[in-house]
Amino acid sequence: MLEIKDLHVKIADEEREILKGLSLTIPKGEVHAIMGPNGSGKSTLAYVLAGREDYEVTSGDILWNGESILEMEPEERAAKGVFLAFQYPMEIPGVAGLTFLRTAKNAVRKARGETEMTTPEFLKFVKGKAERLNIDMDMLKRPVNVGFSGGEKKRSEILQMEVLEPSLCVLDETDSGLDIDALRIVADGVNSMRSKDRSMLVITHYQRLLNYIVPDRVHVMVDGKIRKSGDASLAKELEKSGYAEYQVKAA
Ligand code: ADP
Ligand code: MG
Ligand code: MG
Repeated sequence: MLEIKDLHVKIADEEREILKGLSLTIPKGEVHAIMGPNGSGKSTLAYVLAGREDYEVTSGDILWNGESILEMEPEERAAKGVFLAFQYPMEIPGVAGLTFLRTAKNAVRKARGETEMTTPEFLKFVKGKAERLNIDMDMLKRPVNVGFSGGEKKRSEILQMEVLEPSLCVLDETDSGLDIDALRIVADGVNSMRSKDRSMLVITHYQRLLNYIVPDRVHVMVDGKIRKSGDASLAKELEKSGYAEYQVKAA
């Protein structure tokens, strides 16, 4: 399970604090959603979980299965099962999708002390998943994300998640232009990955994604902190009332 304890984060080289004492626990088997207005620090939280540079944790802790991950490199976190959708560059010219996926998969397997998958093994493993996501194997022979449409990028992101089989999935749906197809791709991906051994965090600006993913808990994040938590009905409430009430409290 994921335990974030009183986390304070600032941008390296800057004074301003972005996460201001954020606490959040996601038990195994649960899907939680974080909603909040632009600029509240949602993406910052996702990046800090993945271990991206540029962010400095000034106090607090992040425990994954009881172990602090703060000092771990991103690769080490990935080996422990932590996955952030889009932690990889949007486009990776010169690297075919299949090669990229197999390399990432084998890195995780190796770190876990498992044997690497051979190319034929990996092809077999990925084929069914790609078919279900309506991803053509030809598309996977092209460089990652180069020239992909919005929907294809979403499929590719969900395929990455399904291939890596992480135990903590963080999806930061920043894209305000998500059309209904892309919403469904993300929602179906998340729903199919739901499992008693997995924790999932879906970050979204928009309530409509949560029409397709019914989260176990919803958290409202405003100005670097969780201001309210509730069940899935909280998302509907927010759609009507907006964030104004929380912004006043945060000020
Ligand atoms: P959200 O995802 O909720 O919209 P962000 O985490 O992207 O919020 O941003 C929170 C605040 O931190 C914003 O004011 C943003 O401008 C600032 N911020 C985020 N990342 C950086 C960065 N790398 N450099 C400077 N400011 C940043
Ligand atoms: Mg933003
Ligand atoms: Mg964001």
